[in-house]
Amino acid sequence: MMHTLLDGITTAKQRRQDLTQNIRALRTKNIFPHLAVVRVGDDPASQAYVTIKQKICATVGIDTTLHELPKEASEDEIHTLIEALNNNPEVDGILLQLPLPGHLNARQCLNCIAPEKDVDGLTDIHAQNLAKGTPGVIPCTPLGCMNLLRAYNLSVRGQTVAIIGRSPLVGTPLRYLMEQAGATVNVIHTRTCNPHLIARHADILISAAGVPHLVTDFWVKNGAIVLDVGITRHNNRLVGDVDFEKVAPKTSYITPVPGGIGPMTVQSLLENTLKLSKMRNN
Ligand code: NAD
Repeated sequence: MMHTLLDGITTAKQRRQDLTQNIRALRTKNIFPHLAVVRVGDDPASQAYVTIKQKICATVGIDTTLHELPKEASEDEIHTLIEALNNNPEVDGILLQLPLPGHLNARQCLNCIAPEKDVDGLTDIHAQNLAKGTPGVIPCTPLGCMNLLRAYNLSVRGQTVAIIGRSPLVGTPLRYLMEQAGATVNVIHTRTCNPHLIARHADILISAAGVPHLVTDFWVKNGAIVLDVGITRHNNRLVGDVDFEKVAPKTSYITPVPGGIGPMTVQSLLENTLKLSKMRNN
């Protein structure tokens, strides 16, 4: 079967044109969208992600400030920093770069972010809003997945969807978004028996496990749409959860890694920052 690549780079660039114009219009009114990034520790992958996000923000006219804490920082120190950013009138969005060093409780740290500045929609309030279908901030990666499908006119209504992974960052919010868009959703996780038997019934299969080459051809229905959210550094290169060579020929549409969900996630971050800036300034 001929498959089409779901090109996150091109789709994100197209969406960025609109966004840039919107931001330009705000800046002429002396409104300067501003994202504050908090990074704890010296994990090189986190450093690289933050650098990329700041560079892309600069290209669209979003101001950023980087607030770094050492890897041994306490939760109190993080709370104090986030509280200061909550109270800083120049800051529209706060991003706490994950993962945090192991001694820190990520949920408690995230919940210090004021909901109106929570650019990744990961505070409990936004998670509850999403579960109830109440408008709020939608986490960047699930939003990127939905926007990528929409860009290719791929409707999820009435489709059977399988999501591998149930984290608060990706799998769980994506499940709600899919259900609210009319899909029937199965969530696969580490306790799922015979996950491949569930996966291979899916019209749309999304993998967010972080396990390289977990999904191989016998997990995938003929003609399925496959989104690979996973990113793992393996033998010095980035690989997804999906064994692309084996799986792609069975699919109708599939994301590459890199170049699929990653750029759409960054694009969602920009869009969420703009949304928060507009909300605060209206
Ligand atoms: P996580 O570790 O918090 O959650 C992983 C989930 O996958 C868990 O729910 C777990 O039950 C499930 N899982 C793990 N191994 C499994 C297996 N063998 N079978 C079935 N289920 C399994 O991770 P996360 O933060 O949700 O991220 C998942 C992956 O997505 C990672 O590779 C991460 O780097 C990547 N990610 C990519 C982007 C992007 O922009 N492309 C954004 C966020 C996360």
